[in-house]
Amino acid sequence: MMEECWFKNKIKIYLVPKYHFRQMIFICLFGLVSVSPAFPQTYFQQKINYKIDVSLDDNHHELHAFETVEYINNSPDTLHFIWFHLWPNAYSNNNTPLAKQLLRLNGKQRLFSDLELRGFIDSLHFEINGKPVRWNLLPGQPDICHIFPDAPMNPGDSIIISTPFHVKIPKGVTSRLGHIGESYQISQWYPKAAVYDQSGWHPMPYLDQGEFYSEFGSFDVNITLPANYIVGATGNLQNQPEAEMLDKLASDTAWYKKTDMEGTSFPTSSKQTKTLRYKANHVHDFAWFADKRFHVLKGKVKLPESGREITTWVMFTNDQAELWKDALQYVNDAILFFSKHIGDYPYESYTVVQSALSAGLGMEYPGISVIGMVESAYSLDEVITHEIGHNWFYSALGFNERQYPYLDEGLTSACTTRYMNKKYPDKKLWEVYVGKIKMARFLHIEKMPIQRMQELERLAQARNNLEQPIKLPATDFSDINYGIMIYNKADMAFNYLRAYLGDSLFDATIHEYYRKLIFTHPHPNDLRKSFETRTVKDLNWFFDDLMGTVKRMDYKIVELENQQVLVKNDGELASPFLISGITGDSVFFEKWIDGFEGKKWIEIPSGNYAEIKIDPGHITPEINRLNNNIKKTGLFPKSDPVRPQIFFSVEDPGKRSLMYIPAANWTRENGFMAGVALHNGFFLPKRIEYLVMPFYAFGNNDLAGFGRVSYNITPFEKFIRKATISFEATQYGAPGNQNYQKIKTGVDLYFKNKNMNSSLTQKVSGDYFAVSDLYQIEQEQAAAMNSFLQFGYQLEQRRLINPFSVQALLETGKSYRKTSVEFNYKVSYYGQNEGLDIRLFAGTMLKNKSDIPFYAFSASGRSGREQYLYQGSYPDRFATFPDNFFSRQMTLSEGGLVSALNDSLGYSRRLVSLSFTSTLPKINKWVPVKPFVNLLLNDHGFGNGFDSPLFFEAGIKAGFWNLFEIYIPLVVSRNIDSVSGPFKNRIRFILSLDSFSKEKLFSKGGI
Ligand SMILES: [Zn+2]
Repeated sequence: MMEECWFKNKIKIYLVPKYHFRQMIFICLFGLVSVSPAFPQTYFQQKINYKIDVSLDDNHHELHAFETVEYINNSPDTLHFIWFHLWPNAYSNNNTPLAKQLLRLNGKQRLFSDLELRGFIDSLHFEINGKPVRWNLLPGQPDICHIFPDAPMNPGDSIIISTPFHVKIPKGVTSRLGHIGESYQISQWYPKAAVYDQSGWHPMPYLDQGEFYSEFGSFDVNITLPANYIVGATGNLQNQPEAEMLDKLASDTAWYKKTDMEGTSFPTSSKQTKTLRYKANHVHDFAWFADKRFHVLKGKVKLPESGREITTWVMFTNDQAELWKDALQYVNDAILFFSKHIGDYPYESYTVVQSALSAGLGMEYPGISVIGMVESAYSLDEVITHEIGHNWFYSALGFNERQYPYLDEGLTSACTTRYMNKKYPDKKLWEVYVGKIKMARFLHIEKMPIQRMQELERLAQARNNLEQPIKLPATDFSDINYGIMIYNKADMAFNYLRAYLGDSLFDATIHEYYRKLIFTHPHPNDLRKSFETRTVKDLNWFFDDLMGTVKRMDYKIVELENQQVLVKNDGELASPFLISGITGDSVFFEKWIDGFEGKKWIEIPSGNYAEIKIDPGHITPEINRLNNNIKKTGLFPKSDPVRPQIFFSVEDPGKRSLMYIPAANWTRENGFMAGVALHNGFFLPKRIEYLVMPFYAFGNNDLAGFGRVSYNITPFEKFIRKATISFEATQYGAPGNQNYQKIKTGVDLYFKNKNMNSSLTQKVSGDYFAVSDLYQIEQEQAAAMNSFLQFGYQLEQRRLINPFSVQALLETGKSYRKTSVEFNYKVSYYGQNEGLDIRLFAGTMLKNKSDIPFYAFSASGRSGREQYLYQGSYPDRFATFPDNFFSRQMTLSEGGLVSALNDSLGYSRRLVSLSFTSTLPKINKWVPVKPFVNLLLNDHGFGNGFDSPLFFEAGIKAGFWNLFEIYIPLVVSRNIDSVSGPFKNRIRFILSLDSFSKEKLFSKGGI
């Protein structure tokens, strides 16, 4: 199944289908292949045959059922107990593994406290061979149970396990099992035995991120429900009248016009019921979908190898009916394509149903898939194709998906990409992600192929040194890497292997692998063995390095001389690469070079081409394409094309981006400023990054602006993930027709997270500042440059629920030294952005010999004229409070009081402050107001009769969070009241233009 969940809205999300099958005749053709020579002698496989009678109560959204399971112990072991999955219980309370995973991935939501979202399975009464047996739920995991037969099961024994059961179907907005009104998605719904294989039992809780592992066997399922439901299910329908009804419906649907497909309400359920029987062999799951509104399309596909004919079904509602009318062709094309390249489709029929899925774009089950809402015909085709691919890589080859998700998702995604690229060779990225050609031209991306998006997503992770090995189990991945490593990088990796081996050798190998291992549980080593045996090539670079590590690929062309080109491996991955001679888009030669470390001269054919390029087709996971080419002539043969682009366009990893944004600015001293912001792209991290914003100021007819250049180092497998060395310079106007200047240079070290599932980040930084003396600037004197040093440590937990951060700082100037700690914690309420923010700050001067007081700690948020390091963006930095509007601007820091006390109170040698800000639960969406309370204790008070060193203020703030916020202290302690004057003089605001910074925009991956 496929569940690409990152970037949820734009990028495809596939759910895994469980297919349904009609099992096939061709099982007989292949014989019982389950004992295959590719397996070691110890291979065995249990067999489990299910008989289920189930009836749907669509008034109460419940299933009443009885199940009989024949468990055949084919293992050489005596079994004393059996694990069963009771997956509907994943929805039963907020402490199940599913609930915990959803909490981590999505933050606090309604989850299962809400009755309609709750689902469960009960009324269980397990018997073995007709006698009640002891069984119990696994503590803390109510979706797994342990069954103890009275007598042990010897090798070769078979037993009959039976139980009634009742399922409360949750509202289908959480994961894969559910109903939306009277539309039913019945998956992972019945008591189901866990897998027992050579490595023992594999009980696993139901999860949203992470799929399944199940035993093969047969299903015989009777579904009773109101007679006007249309059902799509795993297996083959056994009822002739129902089959005739579906045929009739299919011929009607084929003739429907648009006007026949309007309205999405549910017809009343028929009082009569019907019982539909489905039988399936060689499957490891059974899912069914029921809706009274389904339109039906029916087709057939003749399989290329056996000539066998299979039936294909499409079932859809009026939601997106215009797109779905064409879906039968997508289904038939994809089945034919996969059958040709992998081997014949394994079952007798295939059904795709449309449903209001919420767990992703699509989900596979044996012989049947379910697809949610899609954005376009292209994505419908893509999702359907992906889910169909799982009939091979999941249904027929029954991998342990939880343990090795790259096998089912990676192989399926690779085949899907191959199919889509062949079917839509000219598809451009803008068509799917931008929509309008005019906009695409404006952004200069009208020629960028659709596949580039996938490369960009992966590159962003790779260049941030945040990749994880493809081989990992599902639960070890960060949520973003589950999408990027499993669907995206594994897809690229298998297609890279195919390009290297050539289509025919790759296809022949996969064919043989499929044929030998059909209806078994292949281990990753089986795939490796198939490839190594068939290709007789050293594929360690693929199976060990590319799949098993995060080694990076970075070949570099050093020089060209006499039909030889010198290539250096700047990365860690020594894998094969393609070198080409090209002119524009025309390719003159292509040559695969086996991987190497260090440098190597490579012979190249002569010809009339303009440049030599490594991997012009973006087939390999090259991390840095800017050093991949050399021109045969010219002054700067290695220079790369520069692509000027406006705004934040999509970057082309093969070109040097120069983004420009016309920019305007205003400060009191500079007046209106016009200029440009230049940068080399924000989305893809680069070794060298810059942002330069020069302005011409019309007020003082001078130059102003800001510039930053940084150099990033991302060491391989070190405890430091990224080191950034940066240099910044700033100049803006100051009173008296002067300018202030600031230079900052420093190093930031970001530490690697051992557990990528955790969003904890740690960073240390050291910075040197040289800035104009603020006191002299304000006196309108010629200002000296003062030096300061800052050392910081930051620990941040960026999770969605109860995030927190701790920041420690040591700062020193010529005449002072100070240290402080700031702790921020959010107690999350209901919903992701709602909660109580707590801020604790403590600071002390270690030394203070300065005549200028403002180096010490401020009780209130600093105004611009107190920022001796010129932090923040203040349009009127030197304004005196409360002279004008901008003089009320402050930065929330240090003591954190809002009322402007610093002038009258002076600065403190020591202070501690505690602040609380809360959203207003439930109504916050409509009323953007938050109450706050600030408390502060300093070392001196006022010394004017109101000398309490304890300060208090409470009020409300309103605004656009994190950008513009206005603070209104309504109640203040007497010492504040005595100096702050009238109430209106306490109102101040913050303006955080910095909140648009790149780090916040792309904070998700922990940049
Ligand atoms: Zn999938």
